[in-house]
Amino acid sequence: MPTTTIYTLIKQLLTKKATNPFPVKYTPDNMHAAAELIEKGEVEINPPVEIPENYRGKIKYDKECCIGCKLCVRVCPSEALIFKEDESKVKHYVSRCTFCGQCVDICPQDCFEFTDEFLVAGLDKESEDLVINP
Ligand code: SF4
Ligand code: SF4
Repeated sequence: MPTTTIYTLIKQLLTKKATNPFPVKYTPDNMHAAAELIEKGEVEINPPVEIPENYRGKIKYDKECCIGCKLCVRVCPSEALIFKEDESKVKHYVSRCTFCGQCVDICPQDCFEFTDEFLVAGLDKESEDLVINP
């Protein structure tokens, strides 16, 4: 048994990391204060790991190509897409999205596209960053 554990530990040490290390090199008392310092460039951070090919980040919606067929709204399992009857376009709530990709696959116009953007957390889920085509 100890041999298996040692083998697993060595394997883990030699395996390429798949997750980002914690961005700051110390444990901050207040994460918001730390984020402000990072934004001002006053704190050096651990760089993020390279984003893999076909990463499913924040979805980009091309409103102009949308024909209002509602297929994406029907397949979305988390009610992240709401149809706006007044303009025949969709509204996307990023905070509800599970990045399953069903809307990307089904859209006949290819209006959706995954981006590399992974910073999708926020204090206000109704903010313009987290609601696309509000
Ligand atoms: S990726 Fe999935 S959860 Fe997100 S909006 Fe598209 S269908 Fe909905
Ligand atoms: S599936 Fe595509 S074209 Fe149809 S409503 Fe959704 S975004 Fe618009």
